[in-house]
Amino acid sequence: MSELVSTRDPEQNRSSYTDGVIDGLASHGGLYIATHIPELSDADIQAMASMPYPEQAAFIKGQFVTEDEIPHDEILRMMRTAYDLERYPHTIDGIVTPLRRVGDTDIYIQNLSLGPTGAFKDMAMQPLGQEFQYLLQKLDRHLRILAATSGDTGPSAMAALKNLERLSIAVLSPYEGMSKFQWAQAGVLSGGNVVNISGMAPFDPLQDLVKKMSQQQEFADLGAVNSINWSRVTSQIPYYFSAYLQAIEQAEIKFGDEVDIVVPSGNFGNVLAGYYAKKMGLPIRNLVIATNENNVLDELVQTGEYRNTGSRITSSPSMDIAKASNFERVVYEIFDHDPVMTARFMGEFETSGNVTFATYGIPTDIMKSLGFESDSSSHTERLQTMKWMYLYNDRDLIDPHTADAVTVARRLPQDGVPKICMETALPVKFEETVRAAIGFVPARTDERFLGLESRVPHDAFIIMQDVSVGGLTRILRDWLPKTT
Ligand SMILES: *Cc1c(COP(=O)(O)O)cnc(C)c1O
Repeated sequence: MSELVSTRDPEQNRSSYTDGVIDGLASHGGLYIATHIPELSDADIQAMASMPYPEQAAFIKGQFVTEDEIPHDEILRMMRTAYDLERYPHTIDGIVTPLRRVGDTDIYIQNLSLGPTGAFKDMAMQPLGQEFQYLLQKLDRHLRILAATSGDTGPSAMAALKNLERLSIAVLSPYEGMSKFQWAQAGVLSGGNVVNISGMAPFDPLQDLVKKMSQQQEFADLGAVNSINWSRVTSQIPYYFSAYLQAIEQAEIKFGDEVDIVVPSGNFGNVLAGYYAKKMGLPIRNLVIATNENNVLDELVQTGEYRNTGSRITSSPSMDIAKASNFERVVYEIFDHDPVMTARFMGEFETSGNVTFATYGIPTDIMKSLGFESDSSSHTERLQTMKWMYLYNDRDLIDPHTADAVTVARRLPQDGVPKICMETALPVKFEETVRAAIGFVPARTDERFLGLESRVPHDAFIIMQDVSVGGLTRILRDWLPKTT
């Protein structure tokens, strides 16, 4: 059964997959989580090797969704649309998530960024748009979405929901702080069911404002597209299988041999999906969390202490977080599915900004015993790795977030176990950092991004001077009206 519960509901009331997708957040301030993670046999996993990516994705999704909620042939149709050639025009030999080797090292890179906005977020956002549309049709209703973005989530969500009939979306972005390219990506998507609001504040206050809005009666119906949505988590699991099955073809390993996977991490959504892939039976040795200077997660794995030290802006900005929302799902598991303990632990973190496993009688190295490892990368290392990749690996340009993973992978013991790094964005999104790393910006070759900045309509953004519930309410009443 595809039943979900809230990580914090003491009654553990069951919800459907549909509730999870439409509500986003679960009751009692918790997150939706499946009552159990399905397991696959070796034969099941080996059979995936001959499937194109959309079929792999549909097969995995089907483990979490029953036929009566979404018929499985419908799931397959959605996945085929989500990853079609219009959205993923640069698939290599029909492979949506191609794996490549770095020189003659043990390091491999899986490209997850071939989607419409050049970020791995498209991998889960495109299916989410399809699922929304299907479920809203079935429920005969409309859904309006409010989201805050620091740069990648917004454009990815707008691209996925643009022109879908039963959805409208407003995205809040900081007036300053996004790269010029990200700003343009958001701008060109304005219009129709998509509204861009530019707030005179940094990302964190905008994110808080989104939370406050959904607590208002008038906006209680707002839906969520951020990485806590259970649909997004389950759409991220398949590419771990795809990575592994491709590694069998490219590396000298056979089915059943283990690999390490290195994941540039912020909100813990991506690496959480890797953890579920491992639980489902994929032979992963370590899931290595790569962070930037905002090393909350690295500290957590190494010391068992979860500490919010505030976030600062770095050159891998999509990983600039102070709180890793999806980590709560692992906490729930660590406390043996106990919602009361989970709520207590998370509550302590939220009120004091600091919580340790030891005070709850949990071993300090609990994350390591679950198969996580971690390390962090600095600005200088990030730039050096980008330059090294470019010079050493035949002009292979990677983005700063992927560079954090490769930095970490290069420091791991080179013991013959393949190290697969997740490529979470294309370098074209961060040209300023590319220039700092290799000294120049290569000409854009992807026709989708040529002259992007000059295509932004002059009225693409509504400016929000008054960053408050009142200020945003006035804007949303005009621009994101309720339509039942
Ligand atoms: C969102 C994002 C990340 C972080 O992913 P999480 O799932 O939040 O850990 C890393 N890199 C890029 C480019 C991103 O956009």
